[in-house]
Amino acid sequence: MTPTAAPIADVDDRALAHNYEPLPVNLVHGDGAWVRTEDGTAYLDMLSAYSALNFGHRHPRLVAVAHHQLDTLTLTSRAYSNDQIGPFARALAELCDMERVLPMNTGAEAIETAIKAARRWGYVRKGVPHDRANIVVFDGNFHGRTTTIIGMSSDPEAREGFGPFTPGFVRVPFGDASAVAAAIDDDTVAVLVEPIQGEAGVVVPPDGFLRALRGLCTSTGTLLIADEVQSGLGRTGRTFAFDHEEVRPDVYVLGKALGGGIVPLSAVVADGDVLDLLTPGSHGSTFGGNPLACAVGREVVAMLATGEVQERAARLGTKFLDDLDATVGPHVASLRGRGLWAAFDLPAGAPSGRAFCERLLTRQVLAKDTHGQTVRLAPPLVIDERDLDWGVEQIATVARDWA
Ligand code: PLP
Repeated sequence: MTPTAAPIADVDDRALAHNYEPLPVNLVHGDGAWVRTEDGTAYLDMLSAYSALNFGHRHPRLVAVAHHQLDTLTLTSRAYSNDQIGPFARALAELCDMERVLPMNTGAEAIETAIKAARRWGYVRKGVPHDRANIVVFDGNFHGRTTTIIGMSSDPEAREGFGPFTPGFVRVPFGDASAVAAAIDDDTVAVLVEPIQGEAGVVVPPDGFLRALRGLCTSTGTLLIADEVQSGLGRTGRTFAFDHEEVRPDVYVLGKALGGGIVPLSAVVADGDVLDLLTPGSHGSTFGGNPLACAVGREVVAMLATGEVQERAARLGTKFLDDLDATVGPHVASLRGRGLWAAFDLPAGAPSGRAFCERLLTRQVLAKDTHGQTVRLAPPLVIDERDLDWGVEQIATVARDWA
């Protein structure tokens, strides 16, 4: 397709709280990797709702399942059971090679759930004294926006004006296994880590870091909690980003793509030793495990179970990163990624990542800035190879003009 100057939509958001600053484009339709505005202008979605759209917009298999479930049963609460929750849990447990699944809705809720599960595990199984549990987390982390979660953030913008925060977290530099070793004490119940830090700018830790965390957690009797909300479910070319180092964590936290881009669905997945400690009354959610979400989630898991999506992401991802390296790399300060997930930093003093994304918008490509000078890319895993090439060309053209 030929790039044209895209019109900036006039979005009437007067009644909307301003906790976001969206790019000025008002979408009315999505199909695969493409979205369009009311006037018919098409845009290539290279953000995929922060990886929630790994299967693209309105994947036919997922839409069919959702339609069927909409016509059947949508919500029961957990006061009753439903015919979708059990099969979903079994399928996801099998994909993760774990025993139990606790369904929630958003990534942040699933992280909160994992924190509660780890604390209870620490008191019951490890014998940590009452209310003394601590969890090791990392500089640059992003695990969501609740008050407990932002309390462990190192990002002043996320924290400012929202204290006081929940105690019980120790933060160390990302990628530094010796700092983790020094931080773990008798009261440490878990290490909570994103295997690749997404919001921080797709920051990949040094090789061996995840294996080192596994070793430290095993030797100190500490849970290793993998926040794979953004990195998991095929994004990096493997089912989980932890798979790149052949490491099995004790707890997976999943979200985003689990809901197939249709419904919010998250989950904590672990063995019974951990999750069976969350007894009736100790944790819950009205919408968590609703039949609509579970039906879609089960189809997502079925699509991942064959490994084809992951293989495609790995194959396209290699080319994507090579092409970005060759055509964008020379014009930016640094570039990194894994699978179909990448980010680059614009040179210091250059206009901001936001301005770069606005320029990309005029070439009909949607991407997202983070932390000022960084631009993030996460195209749907189902993207057509030619569309991916075209998208990279647009980014390279803007980067060339930028330099
Ligand atoms: N964990 C990670 C790694 C994330 O990237 C995010 C969201 O971007 C979350 C947790 C929070 O997910 P949600 O926005 O669904 O609460």
